[in-house]
Amino acid sequence: MSQAQLKTTEATVTFTLPTLPYDKAALEPHISAKTFDFHYGKHHKAYVDKANELVKGTPLEGKPLEVAVVESRKQGVGPLFNNIGQIYNHNLFWLSMAPNGGGAAPSPLAEKINEAFGSFDAFKEQFVAAGVGQFGSGWVWLVSSKGKLEIVKTANAESPLTDGKTPLLVCDVWEHAYYLDYQNRRADFLKVFVEKLANWKFAVQNYKKDAEMTGSCGTSCGCG
Ligand code: MN
Repeated sequence: MSQAQLKTTEATVTFTLPTLPYDKAALEPHISAKTFDFHYGKHHKAYVDKANELVKGTPLEGKPLEVAVVESRKQGVGPLFNNIGQIYNHNLFWLSMAPNGGGAAPSPLAEKINEAFGSFDAFKEQFVAAGVGQFGSGWVWLVSSKGKLEIVKTANAESPLTDGKTPLLVCDVWEHAYYLDYQNRRADFLKVFVEKLANWKFAVQNYKKDAEMTGSCGTSCGCG
């Protein structure tokens, strides 16, 4: 077979569904395998498939996901941005949780959380309140913005990335994220997220990466 023939048989897709970082039953009893079957296997997959279909033949075909999020948003909120944004948001959401997650935030985030919110308990309360206060579908985020931590909520497929902020952790508050396990009790789901699931190792990695790039850490984490 010639090189030319080989090339034509290669599938070119811009976006892929990432492998889950844990087994679909690993977060039970907090999030069921059944929720993962639908939320990851159907909802997230559908965003990937649709985004690949819509991006074909556009200047964003073949671009890295984060670039595609920012650039498609500049063109306005429509099907292309919505599907690409949802891929990005879900990728981060799976990584924002871990089996045996939750507990206290480690250094240097513990200090930054106290600085921004007063205490870890105040942070948790504000995070849950932001998620409950997001009317309709959306997301609640812990972000770093120029070295300062903030809680941000976004609607539908929006993310703080398009405002130049760095996501550290995110929780999905679309009903499909919690309805099978919690029905209408979004606050209970959010409490479980911060108490039992939050992947603080991932949040610290994201924070350090951002601080290295911006030189804004201002703590003894060694990133400066
Ligand atoms: Mn979702």
